Amino acid sequence: MTTKKILDFLDRHRTEGPCLVVDLEVVRKNYRTYKRALPRTRIHYAVKANPAPEVLALLVRLGASFDVASIREVEMALRAGASAGSISYGNTIKKEGDISRAHQLGIRQFAADCPEEVEKIARAAPGAQVFCRLLTDGAGAEWPLSRKFGCDPAVACDVMRHARRLGLDPCGLSFHVGSQQTDPFAWQRALEEVVRVFHVLAGDGIVIKCLNLGGGFPSRYLRDVPLAADYGREILRALRSRFGNAFPDTVIEPGRGLVGDAGAIRSEVVLISRKSGSDPLQWVYLDIGKFNGLAETMDEAIRYPITSRYGRGKAVPCILAGPTCDSVDVLYENTPCRLPHDLKIGDEVLIGGTGAYTATYASVGFNGFPPLEVHVV
Ligand SMILES: *Cc1c(COP(=O)(O)O)cnc(C)c1O
Repeated sequence: MTTKKILDFLDRHRTEGPCLVVDLEVVRKNYRTYKRALPRTRIHYAVKANPAPEVLALLVRLGASFDVASIREVEMALRAGASAGSISYGNTIKKEGDISRAHQLGIRQFAADCPEEVEKIARAAPGAQVFCRLLTDGAGAEWPLSRKFGCDPAVACDVMRHARRLGLDPCGLSFHVGSQQTDPFAWQRALEEVVRVFHVLAGDGIVIKCLNLGGGFPSRYLRDVPLAADYGREILRALRSRFGNAFPDTVIEPGRGLVGDAGAIRSEVVLISRKSGSDPLQWVYLDIGKFNGLAETMDEAIRYPITSRYGRGKAVPCILAGPTCDSVDVLYENTPCRLPHDLKIGDEVLIGGTGAYTATYASVGFNGFPPLEVHVV
């Protein structure tokens, strides 16, 4: 969403290269919307989506907890004022030294999806709480996170038994239905497996106290997506149908859903050309591409709304590409993007919905282009 605050900021600030502007009001509104959709569920913001200090500090003030992927993110959350008790280390792939460092900083919750990781946690963070992550199929997600993370129900039971054997607290189960999950019923399918593991473990005397329902809540890009309230209703319905009214504590870990629509990127058109006299489509090259912020256009997975405040003519299909000397730096070609036919070199375009997974995905200096500039308003 390109808000008036963002447009005002852009009008007042000239920048050399592309820049991302994040409107904190939208983050605040999104947080409240998810809180309302799932009132009894704790919200752990997935820091990797956008770790801007102002975003983290706002979420601390709103009472959020945090999900982190690395020791640097632990430090960023602490610096923004989060308490160590409100941070969970949700990455299932951690160096033992990082677990140890996090434990020294007071972090008590760690995720694992195999007994080998549990061993590390037991050595580096004795007595810590362990969440076991279950595999999901990622169906319905535009940016799936399946396969790499999670384990099947039998391994999950082993993970929790192993955690107990090693003196850890096997307290929770987690899953992630895939990022930009456009199907509110995805949680229901994942919960079926979770419930089976829950009961097997209960038979072993392991009481699961918390279910971490992960992230995946979508942001609106080109197409409408279901509302937070729809997700909340389906998740609560799924929980009640399996546990009755006495279900375990629940946590969600939204990243994209909290910050995606809070940001917009201003970019400049560097070149407009055709490859041959008979080329039906023109190529539009921007000063931003896959290597300085738009990595999620990989396989054209995420389709950002792109608008121009200059060209006002009829929209025509264009192949959109980034500025680097790498042929993978093409953003939209299979499904071209529509831009005004009178767009000119030097015009600016606004790329909406870019508050999540942009600045942190920018390279430090591929081809000499600097990382994406970020402003928070
Ligand atoms: C990335 C990630 C999230 C956030 O996912 P979104 O799709 O942005 O909501 C939440 N939890 C974990 C463990 C993650 O890796």
